This record gives sequence, structure tokens and C-alpha cells, in this order.
Amino acid sequence: MSSIAIVGAGAAGTMAAYRLRRDLPGADVTVFDREPTAGGRTRRIEFAGAPVEVGATVLPAASPHLKALLDLTRTKPAKSVPATDAKHESVGFWDGAAFAVTAKASPGLVNAGFVRHYGPTSGLRTVAALRQTASRWAKIYGLQKAGRLFLTPAALLDALGLADLTGMSFRHAMGRAGVKGGFVDEILAAITRHLYTQDARLNAFAGELGLAAAGLAGATPVALEGGNGTLFAQALAALGVELVAETRVTRIEAADPAYRPPAPAPPRRRGAREEAVAVPPPSGRIAVVTKDGERRDFDAVVLAAPLETADLKVSAARRLVRTPPRQFQEVHVTLVAGTPSAGYFGLAPGQAMPAHVFAASSPRTPFWSLGVAGRSPEFGCPIWKLLTASRPLSDASLRRLFDERHAVTRFVWKGAYPVLDPGTEGAPFVLAPGVYYANGLEAAASTAEVATVAGYNVAGLVARQL
Ligand SMILES: Cc1cc2nc3c(=O)[nH]c(=O)nc-3n(C[C@H](O)[C@H](O)[C@H](O)COP(=O)(O)OP(=O)(O)OC[C@H]3O[C@@H](n4cnc5c(N)ncnc54)[C@H](O)[C@@H]3O)c2cc1C
Repeated sequence: MSSIAIVGAGAAGTMAAYRLRRDLPGADVTVFDREPTAGGRTRRIEFAGAPVEVGATVLPAASPHLKALLDLTRTKPAKSVPATDAKHESVGFWDGAAFAVTAKASPGLVNAGFVRHYGPTSGLRTVAALRQTASRWAKIYGLQKAGRLFLTPAALLDALGLADLTGMSFRHAMGRAGVKGGFVDEILAAITRHLYTQDARLNAFAGELGLAAAGLAGATPVALEGGNGTLFAQALAALGVELVAETRVTRIEAADPAYRPPAPAPPRRRGAREEAVAVPPPSGRIAVVTKDGERRDFDAVVLAAPLETADLKVSAARRLVRTPPRQFQEVHVTLVAGTPSAGYFGLAPGQAMPAHVFAASSPRTPFWSLGVAGRSPEFGCPIWKLLTASRPLSDASLRRLFDERHAVTRFVWKGAYPVLDPGTEGAPFVLAPGVYYANGLEAAASTAEVATVAGYNVAGLVARQL
């Protein structure tokens, strides 16, 4: 019987386990995670008497892989957005001194607030561009269903006609689509700053897919009643795989002779036949070594966590396997149960604070975004979630931003997601014979859906090897 280790019990590792169970039903699958529970960068914490997501907040439930996990676990998506109360149903774009634009929270980018400021075409053109990218991306599901496998993220994106978008900035792509610069810098960049703590200089694929996944191109993302992370924990339990929790993997060792990762695939000519993917077989078993020194051998190992943040080493024939360097973004989440300052935000008496505030880049603004993340039964007020990059929000800033603060807590993601600069190369899906890697694709865009696609691909490569 073959044995496979998966390192990482987030979206990618769970999806890999799902496919391995289906394609290799007799295989022994062991999932290692350094945290006590599965879920990865989805995390729910209790704050002021209410549950609040501090990682991935919304999931695209309609995407086929996530839907497969929802079906497997019989999870029903509960609500389309985190709970707000009725009077908070608007979004505001903060320019550092005032709300430059306020708009209804729905329906997306073509509404009166934006049209008044920028005319009708910028919103329409943006939605058209997002829809085109989302529909090209969705073709991955047809290809994966037909059994297509990819050795590199570049080959996967190229097969979808998306490789060029990863090489240009979001601002450039929007300009090319005829969207006004003001709309890009004041509205769209403020939203990408919320999604990725990165402005319109991020790569166009990440920007467009991120905005589409956030529901700005028609699809409705959802949050799960029990917490987004429970989907992955329950799926692993339903699949009957062994979860070795609270166990950090420090090394993955392939005993093989030196191995050269495949070069990124050259752009494919339209209509050219796809080469069959040959998966290099390992010449021996692959060792997984954990922090407490335990060593277990497997026929294949899937690394489903970013190498830059996983704090582990991969070696082949005693040589360290290196991947193209990527920087990671540090993100600070601050939760406040309280009342935003009417004076700071310039609210007239009786004027409601927008439920979601997206901040343009300004030295005067200490936060990147601020939004209602729930309601505190303990204090009878909204819970506000504030995001900042690189630095936590100071107490002095909180005093300026809030008239009342009943409770405050802070959470940090040291490696939230890669800095999604255009042209950043993603590491291949095969790091060494028998060692597979899901998180190279994250150099192009970091979402739970992208992680499931990568996890599904690497599991297919494992199945082909075995
Ligand atoms: C603040 C924030 C907000 C986000 N919002 C959204 C959103 O709304 N929607 C969305 O789709 N995406 C969102 N994302 C991105 C999304 O969360 C990630 O892209 C996705 O969860 C990545 O999944 P993954 O399985 O590839 O990696 P991860 O979720 O990071 O899973 C990797 C797992 O590996 C484990 N691990 C790491 N190293 C080791 C080791 N050495 N040994 C053992 N275990 C190890 C970790 O504990 C973790 O459980 C957000 C991310 C952040 C940080």
C-alpha cells in the first residue's frame, strides 16, 4: 500500500487529501500540521462574545472544489457577508481627510455613488474585465476534470490564457480596459489594499481574481456558520485521513540524485497539442522529519504550505532545494467592540458610519481598511475589524479612530500572503522526485480557491507517480 504525507492542513492540503482519497483509495494518507486544528489561514476567534474571522473571511462557495468539500461535509453556507446591522449597509472610500465617495454596499461597482463621481463606463468596464478573467480562470475546472496536470504554475496559467496578466500591473490592465485612472487609484486600489494590503501595482491576475472573488463581478462569496476553517477540519475527518496536529515538520528529505526542476513552460501556440506530463519517479522513499526528531518514510510528500513561512527545509540528495524568492506581506488585524469617532470621520449628527471603509494610501490614515465583522452581544455594539500592513495599529491611533472602545484585541499574520508583484515566478509543483509543492501558484494570486486548484493538481501528480 502506498503512503503519502501532506504537510499543511489548509485549503490546499485538504483538497490534495480529497483527490488522493478518490484517485488512490487504498493509499495511506497522513496530514501534518503545526497548529492544533486544520484550516490554515482561515481562523476564527472569540471576541467580545462573538465569533470573528481574522483570516480568510469569505469563500467562493460556487467554485467546484470548494463545493465538493461543502457537499462532503454537508456544510451549508450561512450568509453572504459577515453580519452587519441594517443601518450600516454602505461602503465609504476614505482619502485621509474625508469620505471621497460613499456608495451602497451592493450591487458592486455599478451604482449611483460611483457613477456620480466617475461616470458609468469605469464601473462597467471593470466588471467586464473581472468577468472575463473569472471565466478564463473557471476553465481550470474543466481541464482538471478532463485529467490535465501541470508541472509549473506558469504552464497552468498559460493553459488558461492568464499568463500575461501575471506579468503586468493591475493598474496597467485596468487602463488598457479603458477604466479611468481616478477610479483605479481611488476605488479599485482601495479595495485591493483591503484584500491584499497591496495597491494597484500588484499583478493584474491577483487584482482581477481577488475583486471577482470578493463578489464584485456577480458571484456571491459566503462565510460559513461554524467558521470557514471548520470546512477543512471536517473534510479531513470525513475523508478518514490521519491528522497529526501540533507537529511541525522541520525537514523533507528525498534521497534522490540531484534533480533539476523543470523550466517554466514556454507559451503554448494556440491549438498546439499538450505534451503528456511525465512525473519524475523518486528512486527511494521520502523522509518527513518533525520537530521532536521523529522520522517517517513515505512514497510521496505534498508540501501544502508556503516554503517562505513553513520554517522547514526540503532537500534532495542532501542538497537544499531552493525556490524563486518571494517576499511575504505581514498583516495586522485589530478588533474593536465600540463606536467609531464621529469627529474623526466627519459624520454629521445622525449620519451612519459606513459598514466598510476602504482607505486610499495617505500618510494621514493609520488603517488600510475598517469594517463591521459582527456584533457584540456583550457590549451591544458592532465589532469593527481594522487591517494594517507591517505594523500594528497603535493605541494612540485607536483613541483617535474610536469614541468608545469596550474591548480591543490584536492578531498578526507574519506571512499573510506573498507580495503579488507582477512577474514574480512561482516555484514548480514538483520540487524533487516524490516531493510536490502546492504553494508556488500563490505567487500569482492568494485565495482559498487558488489553493484548492493547486492542491488538486499536486494530488493528481502524486497519483500519476504512484
Ligand atoms: C488576513 C487574511 C485574509 C484573507 N482573506 C481571504 C478571503 O476572504 N478569501 C480567500 O479566498 N482568501 C483569503 N485569504 C487568503 C487565503 O487564506 C489563503 O490563500 C489560503 O488559505 C491558503 O491556503 P493554503 O492551504 O495554501 O495555505 P495555509 O492556509 O497557510 O495552510 C498551510 C498549513 O500548513 C501548516 N504548516 C505550515 N508550516 C508547517 C510545518 N513546518 N509543519 C507542519 N505544518 C505546517 C500551517 O499551520 C497551515 O495550517 C486571506 C489571507 C489572510 C492572511
